[in-house]
Amino acid sequence: MDDCLFCRIAAGQIPAEKVLENDLFVAFRDIHPKAPQHILVIPREHLGSLNDVDVWCGCQGQKLLEFMVAVAQEAGVDESGYRVLINNGPDAGQEVHHMHFHILGGEDLGDFR
Ligand code: AMP
Ligand code: ZN
Repeated sequence: MDDCLFCRIAAGQIPAEKVLENDLFVAFRDIHPKAPQHILVIPREHLGSLNDVDVWCGCQGQKLLEFMVAVAQEAGVDESGYRVLINNGPDAGQEVHHMHFHILGGEDLGDFR
């Protein structure tokens, strides 16, 4: 989508500090990091939110999980630990309407609310 920030990052039209990418997914550093390692994972395909994931076949979900583990390894937090978070919809404060997962780590993240 031309007017979607994360579609444009995936397409390389807007610069981002990419960590890892493949044919399906792109990982890049959050512009306002909330932890020493704060990486966003997006599908190249535009899905507005997690609620739209029914267009995927089962194997894409498996590939996404494997990609997120690879991102955690790349960031060096796979052994120390990390949190995977998705803000979905208004009550969760979703700001960018292209489905994305936050990977946070690099320090003790404390309790989760
Ligand atoms: P969310 O509230 O889950 O929609 O979070 C959107 C995230 O995208 C926020 O953590 C922002 O800091 C991040 N963000 C917004 N614009 C950019 C950008 N151009 N490059 C990297 N991260 C961004
Ligand atoms: Zn998009």
